[in-house]
Amino acid sequence: MTLIIRQSRIHSYGCYTTRPIRKGTLIVEYVGEYLTYEQADDLYDDFPSTYLFGLDGGKRIIDGYGVAAFVNHSCKPNCETGQIRGKMWIIALRDIEPGEELTYDYNLYDGEDDAPCLCGAPRCRGSLYSAEHLRKLAKKRAKAVAASKVTRVAPALLPAKCRHPVN
Ligand SMILES: [Zn+2]
Repeated sequence: MTLIIRQSRIHSYGCYTTRPIRKGTLIVEYVGEYLTYEQADDLYDDFPSTYLFGLDGGKRIIDGYGVAAFVNHSCKPNCETGQIRGKMWIIALRDIEPGEELTYDYNLYDGEDDAPCLCGAPRCRGSLYSAEHLRKLAKKRAKAVAASKVTRVAPALLPAKCRHPVN
């Protein structure tokens, strides 16, 4: 396997293959330090971008430092990730041509800041968050808007005598 890191049109640097890769190939392990969710949260509280990878439903986190940490997100990826005997791998979803950038769907599930996607896929979600997390965020925002509307109309609900100051 020959992988190189170079500038990407999706986001800063990306990981590219110089050789053809067969569908189903375990391309590269997502190596890094294994942390608990709490440790990772403490470490990266103030960092806008990280190379954290959630395992076991988010209970364990890999703080990535290898080549795999450069693999960008795409809404129409050519790779997926899979846990095999406790290790996280980047796996080819289809045959990949030499020169192609490797991507997988990040499906982010933690956070509220915008995480815009620039993958350029025809059916791009526009975000690195998972569809499920986006639905949760939309619900939360709708609730916040509804709450702000309530405060705005509230004065009208007051008894008439309270609405106009008495001279
Ligand atoms: Zn996208």
